[in-house]
Amino acid sequence: MTERIRLDDLTSDQLAQLYDRLDELAEVSATRKRIARRRRDQLDQAEAAIARARALHARVLRMEALTCAHCGQAWPCPTVRVLDEPAPGTATTQAADGTTATRVTALYERWVKAGPPPLGTSVSRWWDARLVELHNVIAPPANQPEEQP
Ligand SMILES: [Zn+2]
Repeated sequence: MTERIRLDDLTSDQLAQLYDRLDELAEVSATRKRIARRRRDQLDQAEAAIARARALHARVLRMEALTCAHCGQAWPCPTVRVLDEPAPGTATTQAADGTTATRVTALYERWVKAGPPPLGTSVSRWWDARLVELHNVIAPPANQPEEQP
């Protein structure tokens, strides 16, 4: 805490210093308000974009199955699943990081992206490789670092 000076003892230099300090603090406060306003605008834009994506990927009933109105995949489609994921760095994701379920889910996502085996591939060898991958995700070999998605 700053040492207080009695008004009768205050010099004009000390008063000028106090006004300078007041100006500095007013400037800092204005800067913080501008930053907060900009972040609020960015947050509003992000929330609006998420709402537009959710509206685009709404669920519809097609052939007695819930599907995505936009991409036609089973609902929730990959876009909706990504939107439903907790934000990185939140308590939920921190708790889930590195769990078997997280690793298996990441492997599943990789397999979905990779699609079926290329033509001419031995399906039994392809399947064996997948089983080895799955085993290593569930029980990582002790002498190897865990595979990161
Ligand atoms: Zn979709």
